[in-house]
Amino acid sequence: MTCLILLDQTLRLHDNPLLWYGTQRNDIDKPQRLVAVVCLDKSAFFAQQYGLARASLLRLQQQLQLIAAIREALARLNIGLVTLFGEPATEIIGLASSLQASQIVAATPTGHNEQQTILELSRHHKVKTIDVNSLLGIAALSPELSCLPDSFSAFRKQREPQLLVAPAVPDFRPQPSQHWYTPDETAPFSENFSQLAAFGRPPQHCDNSEQDALQRLDDFIWQQQAIRHYKQSRNGLMGDYYASKFSAPLAVGSLSVRYCWQEILRFEQQQLANDSTYWLKFELLWREFFRWQFRKYGKNWFSKNAIKGPLDFNQPTLGEAQNNAFTRWCAGKTGVPFIDANMRLLNTTGLMSNRGRQNVASFLIHDLQLDWRLGAAYFEQRLLDYDVASNWGNWAYIAGSGNSGERQFNVIKQALHYDPTGDFVRSMLPELSGNGSLIHRPAAGVKLPEHWQSWLAKLTDNKP
Ligand code: FAD
Repeated sequence: MTCLILLDQTLRLHDNPLLWYGTQRNDIDKPQRLVAVVCLDKSAFFAQQYGLARASLLRLQQQLQLIAAIREALARLNIGLVTLFGEPATEIIGLASSLQASQIVAATPTGHNEQQTILELSRHHKVKTIDVNSLLGIAALSPELSCLPDSFSAFRKQREPQLLVAPAVPDFRPQPSQHWYTPDETAPFSENFSQLAAFGRPPQHCDNSEQDALQRLDDFIWQQQAIRHYKQSRNGLMGDYYASKFSAPLAVGSLSVRYCWQEILRFEQQQLANDSTYWLKFELLWREFFRWQFRKYGKNWFSKNAIKGPLDFNQPTLGEAQNNAFTRWCAGKTGVPFIDANMRLLNTTGLMSNRGRQNVASFLIHDLQLDWRLGAAYFEQRLLDYDVASNWGNWAYIAGSGNSGERQFNVIKQALHYDPTGDFVRSMLPELSGNGSLIHRPAAGVKLPEHWQSWLAKLTDNKP
């Protein structure tokens, strides 16, 4: 019997229980042959949503590089990787039929589309899912969805006292009991993505392969020990060590969240446990919270009212003025420097700090009064750490349609607090002039919300 091991969103050899499949006594039918598989989802990378491309070129190139990296890592162990491209369920069912595979093992899905794929696969084959990318993935720890609290505080208070995260499984080495398809055997079934070559070579090296991610983790926690002051630095806007930058490798699955968690615990035991080390775990719990929320409410997250109010899946509609405002927001040309600097950072690097994300989201929703889903869709296109639950969950949160009431930020107050010297804005918008925090003055003609006025008066050309 042949078994397909789907490595989508689990592009790693460390802490990857999927790769150990077949070695445990309780693994359902012992497979005779194992085939490692990854499918590049055509619609997730090439379709449009609300008239926007779902993925930028940078995000596509990152995904191709990550697939190439795991293919090479497996090849070093003489294991082949079948690479597919298209609609995942169709492609995987087709492969299963070509290889006469009757069993499929995959990561437990979080987003609605991924859940639908697994459902479709289980109509044709025996499917086993393992929750490899959640802290609470072990069955005994998994929350019951029907009694999962919808507030983060309640979730945290309920979960924290019993938060035993399962240890990471050992780095993968092929076992004598496993018989993997070799690179030569998988080659005939593999898509070489040659038609995607037209999109050009990646403009920059992808920093989020497994090797890069493990190095980053070691650097942040152990070498630089930036974790010691994470709570104080985490609201920074730029620089190497203000925050962990674990989000992209966690999102693509080249880094295991349980391994991260265990490394923080190890640091706490061996070096120091303080409010900063706790806060990094606290933030990982936010990620966890949204994952379970997505499992609980599924498709509703894409409704205009998300998990509150009547379901409305109609596309956002924009009048001409709104369309212009949205286009300017995307391009970082709103005339509000703090917003524009953050959006330009996103457009050039595929990343933005958490503080920046909160501000640009609040500005789009509450100041420009646009449908939050447009902002979420633009972030989906651009973010190299795009994660369905963290992205749509955070957007709905700020809009007040998710796990909180509305969150409105005063952009000028925030700019003064988090970029008091204006250096962040200056670095992204060198064309602007203005000493000190005067750089944060909106351009002439920008309609200024009433609640900014008193804060605009505090902008000064002095260094704080
Ligand atoms: P750190 O501050 O070092 O945090 C450590 C880890 O905790 C992160 O890597 C992440 O996994 C998790 N985390 C931290 N804050 C949050 C949060 N608010 N929600 C969920 N998880 C969190 N994060 C994504 O990973 N993918 C997204 O698509 C995404 N979209 C967002 C959209 C909006 C509008 C907002 C406000 C936030 C979004 N976030 C998203 C959450 C957060 O901004 C990023 O996780 C964080 O900025 C990544 O940087 P870091 O890894 O250095 O974070």
